[in-house]
Parts: sequence; C-alpha cells; structure tokens
Amino acid sequence: MDIKALIKQMTLEEKVSLLSGKNVWETQDIERLGIPSIMMADGPHGLRKQYDKQDNLGVNESVPATCFPTASLVACSFDRELIKKMGRALAEECIANDVDILLGPGINIKRSPLCGRNFEYFSEDPYLTGELAKAYITGVQSKGVGVSVKHYCCNNQETLRFISSSEVDERALREIYLYGFEEAVKTNPDTIMASYNRVNGEYVVESKKFLTEILRDEWGYQGLVVTDWGACNDRVDGLKNGQDLEMPSSFGINNRKVLEAVRSGKISEEVVDIAVERILTLVYKHQNKKVKNHSDHHLLAKEVSDNSMVLLKNEGVLPLKNQSIGIIGKLAKIPRYQGSGSSRINPIKLENVYDCLVKQGISFKYADGYYIDNNDESLILEAIEVAKQVDVPIIFIGLTDEYESEGYDRTTLKLPRVHDKLVEEVASVNPNVVVVLFGGAPVEMPWIDKVNGLLNAYLSGEAGALSIIDILFGRVNPSGKLAETYPLKLEDTPCYPYFPGGNNAVYYVESIYVGYRYYEKANKEVLFPFGYGLSYTSFSYNDLQVNKDIFDHEDDQIEVSFRIKNTGTMFGKEVCQVYVKPLNSKVFRPVKELKGFEKVALDVGEEKEVKIILDKKAFSYYNVNKKTWIPEYGDYEICVGSSSKDIHLTTTIKVTINQDIPSPYEREALPSYYDLTKGFSIDDFKKLVNRELTPLNRVAKRPYHYNSTMREVRTTFIGKLLYLFAKREIAKSSKDKTTRLMMLNSFLDMPYRGLFSHGKGMFTEELAEGLLFMINGKYFKGLKRILKRNRNKK
Ligand code: BGC
Repeated sequence: MDIKALIKQMTLEEKVSLLSGKNVWETQDIERLGIPSIMMADGPHGLRKQYDKQDNLGVNESVPATCFPTASLVACSFDRELIKKMGRALAEECIANDVDILLGPGINIKRSPLCGRNFEYFSEDPYLTGELAKAYITGVQSKGVGVSVKHYCCNNQETLRFISSSEVDERALREIYLYGFEEAVKTNPDTIMASYNRVNGEYVVESKKFLTEILRDEWGYQGLVVTDWGACNDRVDGLKNGQDLEMPSSFGINNRKVLEAVRSGKISEEVVDIAVERILTLVYKHQNKKVKNHSDHHLLAKEVSDNSMVLLKNEGVLPLKNQSIGIIGKLAKIPRYQGSGSSRINPIKLENVYDCLVKQGISFKYADGYYIDNNDESLILEAIEVAKQVDVPIIFIGLTDEYESEGYDRTTLKLPRVHDKLVEEVASVNPNVVVVLFGGAPVEMPWIDKVNGLLNAYLSGEAGALSIIDILFGRVNPSGKLAETYPLKLEDTPCYPYFPGGNNAVYYVESIYVGYRYYEKANKEVLFPFGYGLSYTSFSYNDLQVNKDIFDHEDDQIEVSFRIKNTGTMFGKEVCQVYVKPLNSKVFRPVKELKGFEKVALDVGEEKEVKIILDKKAFSYYNVNKKTWIPEYGDYEICVGSSSKDIHLTTTIKVTINQDIPSPYEREALPSYYDLTKGFSIDDFKKLVNRELTPLNRVAKRPYHYNSTMREVRTTFIGKLLYLFAKREIAKSSKDKTTRLMMLNSFLDMPYRGLFSHGKGMFTEELAEGLLFMINGKYFKGLKRILKRNRNKK
C-alpha cells in the first residue's frame, strides 16, 4: 500500500478524523477510501476484549481468554524464551479474536512496593525489565500482532496518576525509568503508550522531550505513539510534539481543535500528515489477518507459573512426601490469581488448589481459616483443630482483591490482619507450617520465623493452583527468583517519606536508588533480597573467566564465562546472575547492578558453561553534562551469584577509558547520595535536579479548570451532582466490588477534561464548558452556553 499516495487523496477533514479512535477500542475507518479500522485490546497477561466497544474499564464481560500469571510473577522466571512463548500464545488469542494490537507489556519500574499496579509490572530493576520487555514484544509481534509498551513514562503510582507530576532528576530518568523503554524500542514495538502523568511539570502525552527528542531522535523509534486511554490534554500541542493517536475517541472534540489549528495556521498540515502516515502504516500492517482458532494455552499458563513461583523458605519440610496435610485458608478454594482494573481477564479455565487436590486423589483436612475480605477471626479455631491433626498445615494467605488494583495505591505493606493472625495461631500449635502466599507485590511477614516453608505464588493466573501442588509435592522443582526486594517493613523502602507525594507532584528524591540499589547502599537488612529464590536441588558455580580484563574502547565487549553444576538430587533450573560493582567510582553509584543473567536447566550431576557479554552499558552511568552514557574509568568487580546477596564468584576488570571526563557531581555538594545512612536530603535533591521543581501541592479552589480533578470539583454543587451521577452509573455497571472501587477512585482522580473521553459522548464541549462556568459560580453564563449548544443542535 502506497500510504503517501493515499494521504494525497484525503481531505483535511478525513485525515483529522483518523487522529482519534472510532470508539474505545478501534481506530477510525474511512469508507470512501476503503480505509479499515484496527482493534486494540488489553493486555498484558491475557486478552481482555470486551463485547461492548464503548466500554473501557471491565464493566462488561470480556471474551474468555487464557489468564497467564501477571508480570510480577512472570518476571521471576528470568526466562526470556518462556516469555517469548507466552507472547506468541497471547498473539494467537488476539488473532482468534480479531484483535490487532495487544495493550502491553506494562514496564514501569516498581519505585515503591505500594503502587497499586505493580502486579502488572516486571521489576524494580531496569535491566531485567528491558530484557523481559524485549522477549515479550518479540514473542507477540512474531505472530503479526502488535504491542503497546506502556506506560511511557514515570507512571510509578496510581495516586493522582492523571495529573501528578513525577519530578525526577535526569540521571534517574535515564538509568532507572527510561532504560526499559529504550531497550524495548530496539525490538520495534508497533506502538508505545504515553502515560497520563506529567514528568517534570509537563504532560508526557504532549512532551517534545519525551515523544520526539528522546523517543524518535535519540532512540530512532519508528512506530506509533498512542495516548493512554483518556490521557490527551492539549491535543494540538500533543500532535505537534509527537502524539500520533488519541484513544479513546473524544467524540470529535479534539479533532475539531486540530482542524481549527490547521485552518488558523497554528500548525501546518504536514504535522497532521506525519501522524496520519503512522496511523495508516499501522492499520495497513494489521489488516487482513486471518482469524484462526487458537490452541489450548492452559498448560502453557501452568508452565509459566511452574517456572516463576518463588520458594522463599524451606526448613526441610518441602517437597512433601508422605506427611498428612491440612489445607487452611479460603484462598485455596477461591484463589487470588490476577489483579484488578483494565487487565482483568475472563479466564477460560480457573483452577483452585482444593478442587485439584480432590481430583488428584490427594487426601487432606480442610479449614476456611477466614472469610475472604473480612477480619472476623471466628474461623481460626477450626484451623487450629485441623493443624493439630496433621503433619504439615499448609496455609493459603495473601492480599485479597481490594488491596491491589489499578486506580489506587496500597497504604500499607501489611496483609489482612486475620491472615497474619491465622499463621501465628496455627504455628503456635504446629510449627511445621508451610505458607502459600498470593499477591502482586511484597508484604510484611511478621510470622516468618515461625514457619518452616514459604512458597510465593504471586498472582499466578488460571493454572497457578496446579503449579502450587506440583511444587509442594516436588513434581516441579521451583526455579523462580524475586524480581524485586521484599523489605522488612514499609518504613525501610527508599521513597517511603516521598510516596505518593502531594496533590500536584511527587518528588523522586531517592534518585537512582530504587530497590536493591538502595538497600545495598544504605546497608539495610531486607526480608528477601532481589534475585533470591530456593530450589530442591543445589548448584555449584566454578571457573569464572573473562576473555580480557581491560575495557579500553567504547565498543569493547567483555565475555564473562563460568561453569554451573547441579550438585543435588533433582533436575532443576538456576538463574545465574551477573552483577557489576564499581570499586573506585567518583560518581555516586549503587553498590552493584544486574548486567546479565541466564536461566540454565541441569540434570542431576550435569554441568554447563554459561557465557555472558558485558558491553559499554555494563560499566556506564548516564552523564548529565555529556548527555550520554559514559563507561567510568576505574576498577570493577564482576560478581556471579544466585541472588544479589549470594555471590559465588568474583573477578576484577579495569575500564581504562574516559579518565579525563570529570564527574558531574562534587561529593561535598551532594553528600546524601554518597552516604545513604542518614536518609536523602531535599536540598541535595534540589541541587541534583538543578531546576525549579513543580510545587508538591496546589491549592484547589475556584476558578476550577479542565485539569482540576473531579475530587476537587466535587466540593461545588454541580461537582457533587456529577459525582452522584457517576456513582450511580458505576454502581449499575459492575457487579464486582473491586472494579467499582477502582472506577470510583479513577473518577475522582480524573481531571475534568476526562468527561470528554470517558463520558460516552454525553459531554459535548459546550456542555462541559457550560458546567465549568457553573462550577465556578457563573450559573447564568453557564446556562447560556449550554442552551446555545441545544439551539445549535436543533
Ligand atoms: C490503562 C491502560 C489500559 C487502558 C485501556 C488505561 O486506564 O492505564 O493500561 O491499556 O486503560 O483499558
């Protein structure tokens, strides 16, 4: 298809009509020219194609689809090939349902374990995130289905995600928050989804820096930029700066603004043409896919959870042999297997541990232990009775549905109180407890010393129950490793004093010290370190070698090799991790950083050689003065281990270039980034960002505007009416309590302009403007505006 020739045939109005969705999920078609539309659907861990094309947030049923484990568990596999395979399966399900673009992967960094949407993201580590994102994208796109890498960028919390400004220093931006996206771009993702939030005061959806300078000019991105659903702020500015497609439809409102801007000469028609060309390129790439039935992916979902679940503690109790067992906890019957919000999937075949055990003819005693989302402790006594009668009480606990969701953050790392209490009480009558933990993110474990076994099942998808049983009984040897640190308590987390910020901005004061980069540098003890996970077999690491120990030019590569052997009695897989540790850096840097990994499968007694290439980035920091990555002159230790804490082999190499490049920082000027024991200082942060920060808070009062949140506007009479109306609609629309909670929260956090894209076409520009006058106390003017609209309509 000659897209340029096609564009030449189009009127300006036709071109502009393509710039925004036809409905919530499809791009606009043009009948006159035979231009078809294509369909997008969530993502990321399964297909959520809704039956109703006007519906966004899971209100209505979606087609049945395989529910894979969510990203927080998938990441623990550290297995690129497995993730590619999952990607291919996801694509097959898209093809079977006529979906062209899958809205995933979600690759935001887990800045705080409190982010309500962490279950949908991979890791606290940018390198791991980038590697897994590339695998996911390669898998999905190899079948001809496109992806949408989201949410670009610094969308690391749900609180006020539509308006809040993430204030980040340039180095943290590059090393932590952009790195995964930069890597992802190397696999040519069809689309990138620009996030709702602002970064350093500017909406990402209309930021020249993020959409054009970094994404296209620096990284060479060729695909399409789509807004997150309803993220569009100023469409004309957005278009000018690289926002190609607005989703969902704003019912002609923003398209009209673009038309006016072209007609008045504010922007040239070429600006429109560029976006149209990208949209049409995408459309013609994806049309004509043949709908084909997909094969059954239930067992693949199990393979993913088998290879991802993390055994966190085992004092000789697992795998189970001939012991009698008690199954305690309602989550064994009603599993928590996925999170809430736009990624919520209608699973094809949901398994639960209780039924699977029965089916497999395994005998056990059972007690509910608790009511799912209620703190009533009356069921604990029954659990204690069961625990007294069995060799091994297995307790199923975790974060229940309303704890984690898109749309709001957690406020605590604690489990439901009754779950903690259940473990304590059961352990007091039978110390041989095994805990199976559900949830998308870290929790505090006050009972950890009182249990003998702990399997972290995370949110393990529709077949997770089968994996849990196979791991408990040793039919599958666990091989997952944590893709994030489990801190001892919330107060220990790096951004604890600064999360989720004020009502206008959030300061990323901790800079590059996210996750283990912080805990190691601050010498903080943790519950479980990054990269940690046990196996039923044992491994030995030997014979570390580097092909050269001097890194002496920019394109140099160092090949690290070592041998790994299964020294135990069972087939197993080990995630070998390579960290790079600067020994005499002048720049403030983490103690060490992950720069390579490989998952290796080994039979009993088998030994393999692992080779990992370290290039320039392995030794680099982002130099804000030079505006590029600089491998820093000095000595480095190469650390090979089975977790960030368990390093088995080390050797040193030397970077001999860049000796003359001065550090952009003076140690004396930024003491809190060199010595983390006293906490970060806001003054140092101000020096580090070296520009005016967006104020943390804003005073929300009249005059309200299009970026006032509905929560702010709700203080007025008209705002209250709008709130009550929304509340009624939400109550009508979903049976699911967590979905309703999420929708209500999203509504309150939404800026007033969100009424355009989320108001199902009810809110025309005149109506919204009129109501805004009234919200600001100008009732007469508002009414006149609304009536004028009605007259125009007639
Ligand atoms: C979410 C996206 C999602 C989109 C469509 C947004 O609210 O942030 O991740 O893909 O809705 O459902």
